[in-house]
Amino acid sequence: MDKLIITAAPTGNVPTRSINPFLPVTPDEIAADVSLCRQAGAAVAHIHARDEKGKPTTDLNVFKAIMEKVREQCDIIVQFSTGARGGSGAAERGACIALKPEMASLSTGSSNFAASVNYNPPGLIKELAGRMAEHGVKPEIEVFDISALEYAEHLVEKGLLEKPLHINLVLGVPGSMQGNPRNLFYMVESLPAGCTWSVAAIGKSHKQLSALALVLGGHVRTGIEDVPELEPGNPLSNAALVERIASLAGIYGREIASPEEARVILGLK
Ligand code: ZN
Repeated sequence: MDKLIITAAPTGNVPTRSINPFLPVTPDEIAADVSLCRQAGAAVAHIHARDEKGKPTTDLNVFKAIMEKVREQCDIIVQFSTGARGGSGAAERGACIALKPEMASLSTGSSNFAASVNYNPPGLIKELAGRMAEHGVKPEIEVFDISALEYAEHLVEKGLLEKPLHINLVLGVPGSMQGNPRNLFYMVESLPAGCTWSVAAIGKSHKQLSALALVLGGHVRTGIEDVPELEPGNPLSNAALVERIASLAGIYGREIASPEEARVILGLK
């Protein structure tokens, strides 16, 4: 079994400080927070950008500031989000790809969020995939539903995605596949051969599915984006969430990958 890659998702588009006072928002806060996550065992940082009012933004300058400040502080792998809440079209959502982060998220299908559509039509997916290929950015395929997994394989057949894929199974989003062992096993059994995979279990299934993922040989994402409150009234910092996964890994005999080791596991150039 490969060493465990822990991805920290510190900010997201939705959480606010009123829900979790530890939420990092500005580039300085995000960089300092990510550095603490790195010390706690994270090898990848999944990054969303916020504007001065704390709202989601696709402003290239904000992404640039975050990337520079993170790189000043640590060697963590930077993964930018191109998710549906980040903007309307591929140009807006994919603007950050031009900064050549080592990775970027790529949702390969549409589903629902709690109150909006996780809108990823085929043309947009192909355009984002093309931009990532052009800039040497490894996609993390975000799978909210089984059809997105199958569509990723279709894109490999069409030459628009390159193997080995890295797939993040996002479970527990209201309106998409729910977070339970049956759904996780179904997704894991359906993974394409030779891929690497992780689980981002949103909300109340976070503890159980994170543990299952690391026992099954998958990798794990955690952070305030996924669990603003681990239990009601118990918000934790991103580093504390990463520490929890790292200690679970110790209990189940999984070593933690450094960013350098994660680069090899993920096939980053
Ligand atoms: Zn995200």
